[in-house]
Formats: sequence, structure tokens, C-alpha cells
Amino acid sequence: MKKISIVVPCYNEQEALPYFYEAVTGILSEIKCDYELVCVDDGSKDKTLSLLRKFSAEDKHVSYISFSRNFGKEAAMYAGFCNADGDCVAVMDADMQDPPSLLPKMLELLETGEYDSVATRRVSREGEPQIRSWFARRFYEIINKISDADIVDGARDFRLMKRSMADAIVAMSEYNRFSKGIFGWIGFKTCWLPYENVERVAGETKWSFWKLFKYALDGIINFSEAPLSIASWFGVLITVLDGMFLLFIVIRKLCFGDPVQGWASQICLTAFIGGVQLFCMGIIGQYLAKTYAETKNRPHYIISETNRDGATLIK
Ligand code: UDP
Ligand code: MG
Repeated sequence: MKKISIVVPCYNEQEALPYFYEAVTGILSEIKCDYELVCVDDGSKDKTLSLLRKFSAEDKHVSYISFSRNFGKEAAMYAGFCNADGDCVAVMDADMQDPPSLLPKMLELLETGEYDSVATRRVSREGEPQIRSWFARRFYEIINKISDADIVDGARDFRLMKRSMADAIVAMSEYNRFSKGIFGWIGFKTCWLPYENVERVAGETKWSFWKLFKYALDGIINFSEAPLSIASWFGVLITVLDGMFLLFIVIRKLCFGDPVQGWASQICLTAFIGGVQLFCMGIIGQYLAKTYAETKNRPHYIISETNRDGATLIK
């Protein structure tokens, strides 16, 4: 490898960034190949951008891209991939939850030529709220059953990959991005490195439980059509049940002939079918909303400031 590019999405990371910069440069300066840090400021409201300006003025290995507003981590990673020009590319969080000490091992594994990417996986979730871990586990179980994107439980976005894989990610230009799914979907030979969970060094997480929940649903909708089939199967099931019920009513009418009974069952059925219909329409609505966002063809990100020559400012 001649040059390794490290993409670092940063959103309000003024507390953690100095630790990260110190640790990563300490490790990268000891490996043989050239490196660059492509820091993407995702519309931070604190001093993240001024810190990045300072690092890049003092260190030619550091460059930065600053968004016009917060576009989200997915957009920040995409901007990094679109602009990084190393022979291999890595993504790392700025909060030290992706241990820089793993980098030499990852590089070594990639250089054996056996793999196209070396990815990391948390084997423990210590320090994380129990309820969050529980939902995360269920999410991995479900998505692996219903989609063809192979997503490993505990997989991090932290991975080192060859140029060919990075190019494939850039080519996946969908607007609704779910990187864990994209990495799995494009294939390539991946080596998994397990490690114990590390807590964030400073600052706080940008993901509330609700935001993560919506992100997980996004992942399912982006990589599986199973919810749509659920809607049609519901339709089939209810038609069959309805047919049986109709038969029952007709037979009862013929045998016993009581015309004005059944108000309660009528209301229950109407309400139940109404609920199922709304639920199914909701599923279709979710897919329609995604399709709407894709067809508008809006840019993934808008760069308002950068020190990288030739950076694509809007993509
Ligand atoms: N991040 C970002 N944009 C956002 C939210 C997060 O670029 O809108 C970055 C953040 O600065 C960090 C990484 O994404 O480098 C992971 O975020 P965080 O540590 O808050 O997530 P967690 O590790 O808690 O899942
Ligand atoms: Mg984190």
C-alpha cells in the first residue's frame, strides 16, 4: 500500500478530536506507508471546524471538508469516500470508539492480499444501555432473515478497504444510505476483527434511542421488501378468515334465522380490518417516501468550506 486515507466523520467533536488526532497520528507515523486524514465536519455547532483548520494548518496529512449544515453521519462518510484518494480507505469515528491501535493489524491483514477489506466487530456491548443492546440484537436477527445484505451482529463502520471496494461504495449513490447494508451488499472478501467495546473518550453520543430506532427501520426498508410482502399476506389471511366468517353467517342464518344479532362482532371486525389496512398503507407509505426522496435527486451533501483541491463541492 502506498497511501492510506482515513475518513473521519465529525459532528460536535471538540472534546474528543484532540485525543483522536494524537492517537491516530501517533500510530500512523510508525507505519511504512503515507497517510491522510480526511475529516468531514458535519455542520458542527461547536469548535470542531476551527480545530480541524488548526490541525490541517500544522500537519500536511490532515485535510477537512465542512458541510453547510448537519447532513448526518451517512452523508459525511459518503463525502469522505468520494474525496479520499488513497490506495486503501478506512472509516473511523472521532470519539476513539474505533481503537486506532487496531490499524496496523488491519493493514497487515489487507496486505496479505487475501482480503479486500478488514472490518471490525464489537463482541461485547458493555457500557451500553441494556435495552439498546436488546433492540440491536433483534435488529440484526430480523434484517439477516429478511434481506440479502449480509450484516454481522456488532459490526462497526470502522473498516479498512481496498480502492476497488471504496469505488464500489461511491458508485452506490442512493440517497437513503445505510452503510452496514451497503458494505454487505457489494460483497468482496472481508476479514472480521473482533474487539471489546470501548466507551467514548469525551463528549457525548449523537444518537438518541429514537434516532437509532428510525435508523434501524431505514435499514430494513432500504434492504428488504419483506414488509411489503407482509402487507399482501395480511390481505390474503384476512380474505380467507372473512370467507370462513361469511360461511358461518350464512349457515347460521339458514339454520336459526336470527337477523339482528352480532353488532359487537361487526364493530370488532370493522375496527380490526381498518387497523390492518392502515398498517399496510403505512408500510407502503414508507416505501413511497423513500422512492420520493430518491426521485428528487437532491445532493447527498453540500460543502461550504474545504482545504482539499478539486473536492466535489456538491454531490
Ligand atoms: N456523526 C456525524 N454526524 C451526525 C452524527 C454523528 O458525523 O449527525 C459522527 C460523530 O462525530 C462520530 C460518529 O459519527 O464520529 C459516531 O457518532 P457517535 O459516537 O455519536 O455514535 P455512537 O458511537 O454513539 O453510535
Ligand atoms: Mg461513538
